[in-house]
Amino acid sequence: MAGEPQADCLFCKIVAGEVPATVVRETETTVAFRDINPQAPTHVLIVPRRHYRDAGSLAAAEPAVAADLLTTAAAVAAEEKIGETGYRVVFNTGSGAGQTVFHTHAHLLGGRGLNWPPG
Ligand code: 5GP
Repeated sequence: MAGEPQADCLFCKIVAGEVPATVVRETETTVAFRDINPQAPTHVLIVPRRHYRDAGSLAAAEPAVAADLLTTAAAVAAEEKIGETGYRVVFNTGSGAGQTVFHTHAHLLGGRGLNWPPG
């Protein structure tokens, strides 16, 4: 059921502390941890504690938590001191766009120049 932990979900396991991760920030509704395969000097994933498959599903069900993801991303960006040079927050949605883990997550990327359009 949407919102409930999924037994086969990697990010549910990270939220539960069953899979180790380098956590950089936690709130009541979100967890932020470093990506295992960083694509930039700062590459942090911000996930809701509750399980939804993508950003749109989360926003439809719990809009306040979707907002918390963005607030947490901004707070981590400030801590990482990438706010002034600029950073990117990305939600890959669907396998065609590169989503491989189907638990909502924002990628926070920064600390290097970021090209546009993205690949
Ligand atoms: P997606 O491709 O779904 O947008 O992003 C999934 C991200 O999760 C990828 O950037 C990938 O490197 C990261 N990832 C996959 N497995 C693990 C893991 O076990 N731990 C952490 N910290 N990140 C992971």
